Amino acid sequence: MRLSCDVHVVYSLLTSPATAKPVKATLALGIKPRVKTLLTTTTKTLGDVTLLLCTGKQTKKYEVRNNVLKVFKKYVGHGKATLVLRNPSHQLYISKADPVHLEKFLKLVVLHMKPSQDQIPVHLPELPNARDLLHLDERPKLKLTITQRQNYPLRDGFPSTVETLVIQNCMLAKVDSRIIELVHLRILDLTHNKIRELPSSLANLDKLAELRLAENRLSSFPSSICQTSLSCSLKTLDLSDNQLVSLPAQFGEMVGLVSLNLANNQLHTLPYTFHRLKALQKLLLLNNKLRCLPCNMHYLHLDTLDVSGNEFANEKSVCIMQSRLGVLSLMELCGRVMNCYRIQYNSSCLPLHLCSFLDACRTCMCGKPCFVSFEHCLGPVDSRRMARTVITDSSRDIPMEAFLCSIECKKRFTGKGQLVL
Ligand SMILES: [Zn+2]
Repeated sequence: MRLSCDVHVVYSLLTSPATAKPVKATLALGIKPRVKTLLTTTTKTLGDVTLLLCTGKQTKKYEVRNNVLKVFKKYVGHGKATLVLRNPSHQLYISKADPVHLEKFLKLVVLHMKPSQDQIPVHLPELPNARDLLHLDERPKLKLTITQRQNYPLRDGFPSTVETLVIQNCMLAKVDSRIIELVHLRILDLTHNKIRELPSSLANLDKLAELRLAENRLSSFPSSICQTSLSCSLKTLDLSDNQLVSLPAQFGEMVGLVSLNLANNQLHTLPYTFHRLKALQKLLLLNNKLRCLPCNMHYLHLDTLDVSGNEFANEKSVCIMQSRLGVLSLMELCGRVMNCYRIQYNSSCLPLHLCSFLDACRTCMCGKPCFVSFEHCLGPVDSRRMARTVITDSSRDIPMEAFLCSIECKKRFTGKGQLVL
């Protein structure tokens, strides 16, 4: 059995440590190759179980039987433990180990420290070659791909060093909580499983740049994820082939997104905060149930936009959906001022109904905010203005919904039967 960790070797009888500081090492537990044949004929060879300490510079061998005096494992949950040895008189301070692997490793050491004659020891393999260990040491496990259910590490868990984790076709019903603990994870691919919802704890993976959840059973995307560090770190999000009906208004906070795939869902609308995704370059919306695109989509600098296979309204000219322009209420004026000056608010300083009023801020085509006093209209927009490459079913214009904050904006943006961008 092997364990990757940091080890600090200290001589028990000397004040100065054998190594100046903890070094990256591999600990291995096994049987010396030369006595392997004896094991089959006699039980007196139990003492030949050996602990191998392999660092980048040197390799040390320690007998385990009657030589490991004590094992301190109070902090095994933090990946730390100490082994006290008799000959040579060393103390091995283990740190930065995977807690699950460390616990198993120590269990084996304890079992072989003082094995009684009637105790059947756990079978140990032949001691690995030190050169092999050094080779392993140079390559921490960075990528793990599991494409078959029987290979899923139910007991062992995942290596804590992994940066890319691919789990496909494993019929996962939810995101394994052990995945959330992989703090180095940058790419998580859970394509083709049966995941129904995402835990908000997913936000703990603050280095995650790519999240692939295609071909699952998601019906919603949690708003709580949109307001965490993931909103900036996540560059690629694939939610295609799910059962999404809508996205939360907070989705506009995911400002780090560069590529977003929402193909083959049941989306009727997109949140009106969509124009805040300023980094977005590739947006796939094919095969949904969209009647129109949200306002101010043209503010995005998209390279590719695919909107084919939707149910766009057949608007040939601007159609007024709601007309609420008039004398502005005091609440409307306050909201507009708060938004312009970016005044922060939450439920601890404002009543809930005011918070939900402020949350429902629309952005006029002029860029100014409006809340309940607006003209809501739907109008065709020249699709070529949306992105460098636009994929549609036909050459006709795409309808876009817009909110207009004043009579002046209505005159300015609704001329010639089209929305004027
Ligand atoms: Zn306006």
